[in-house]
Amino acid sequence: MNQLDQLAALLRFPSISAQAEHAADVSECADWLVDKLSGMGLDVNVKKYSTPKHPIVVAKSEKIEGKPTVLIYGHYDVQPVDPIELWTSAPFEPEIRDGKIFARGATDNKGQFFAHILGVEALLKENAGQLPVNVIFLLEGEEEIGSGSLYGFMKEHKEELACDVILVSDTGMAGMDAPTFSYGLRGMACAEIFVKGPSADLHSGSFGGAVKNPITALCELVNSFHDEHGKVAVAGFYDDVAPIAAWEKSMWSTVPGMSAKDLEELTGAKEVVTEDGFTAAECIYARPTLEINGMGGGYQGEGSKTIIPSNAFAKISCRLVPNQNPDVIMGLLKAHVEKHAPKGVEVKFVPGHTGDAYACDPHSEYGQAAQQALEAVFGNKPVLIREGGSIPIIAEMKKVLGADAMMLGMGLPDARIHSPNENFSVELFLKGIELSQSLLRRLGQ
Ligand SMILES: [Zn+2]
Repeated sequence: MNQLDQLAALLRFPSISAQAEHAADVSECADWLVDKLSGMGLDVNVKKYSTPKHPIVVAKSEKIEGKPTVLIYGHYDVQPVDPIELWTSAPFEPEIRDGKIFARGATDNKGQFFAHILGVEALLKENAGQLPVNVIFLLEGEEEIGSGSLYGFMKEHKEELACDVILVSDTGMAGMDAPTFSYGLRGMACAEIFVKGPSADLHSGSFGGAVKNPITALCELVNSFHDEHGKVAVAGFYDDVAPIAAWEKSMWSTVPGMSAKDLEELTGAKEVVTEDGFTAAECIYARPTLEINGMGGGYQGEGSKTIIPSNAFAKISCRLVPNQNPDVIMGLLKAHVEKHAPKGVEVKFVPGHTGDAYACDPHSEYGQAAQQALEAVFGNKPVLIREGGSIPIIAEMKKVLGADAMMLGMGLPDARIHSPNENFSVELFLKGIELSQSLLRRLGQ
């Protein structure tokens, strides 16, 4: 089977981790990977581990002393396909159109990690079964549902997974001509706020003016989260924020697609509005935020209903940056909500999940090898960015395994990950195979 046919075979598994009815498909996809890795001519130690949920596949090359060990992480589970009617071709029947392979998981993340598998396979063939570095593949089946099993697995298998550096292709690429090296991720702190007013919805005529409206109270509270400069007004929120380096500011001013005009076109927002003193790229890559993700309460039906509702709620989340500690931030949020709780209502703050921010030095020895490999394969100098999103498992890998992650993402802006018509550029897939070889060769020198 040629390389593209093999990718198509991998994409045919409906390995949707979120849906119990696909558990067998997830497991069969793991079996397929075990077969592929075992049959590659690599003298590997390939194992499929069962976990409380979906299997984890680990494959290790024969250890060569004196060579660095590179752990290549990927996830073979995928997002659900809904809304199915918006797909041009069936999500698990890969189809090539306009130089792209369309299927759920094509970019996120099967196409990207499979390029590394094929890169390693090519190196093995070329060198009679000898790799330039030690390689460990770590492939999980729960990334799209929070990597629940991987946290414990990494701690239990710390020795087996010991490595010098981690390679991950599960992030964005600024454009086909802009090879992208991501060296940071934002962290996360989520919470919910519940505001309770009268014990039941009240007649707004009989009681309006004397009983505090919980939705009004919630709006006052939500309004206290930001000041007029676009800054988060929670006391102490910025205390630990690492400053943006001068080289980062100049690098980020050149990243394609990140101008205010580009972002307006991409998002459909009327105008890009940033925190005072920072560009859009700086705000997305390296400044923390507090977002209101949802609000509710009161009458939502047809026509009017003149009530004072009995309760209201808001869901909030912060994206965090180095060196903010999510637990500290959660405490600050709670204190802010308590301090600004309007009178006349009961306000409850319920903390949700958190994740650490992550950053490494893209100019380290390994980082330089990655930059050189990107330039060699794509013919352009890479852009060095931090991702606005969060992959909490990366910070955890640093904590448990002590290794930094080079995130060489190949997710193009129009790859439609998590959406109908997800796709992966065939050219990019083939370049990914080359990139993997070029990088592993350099790391072995
Ligand atoms: Zn995803």
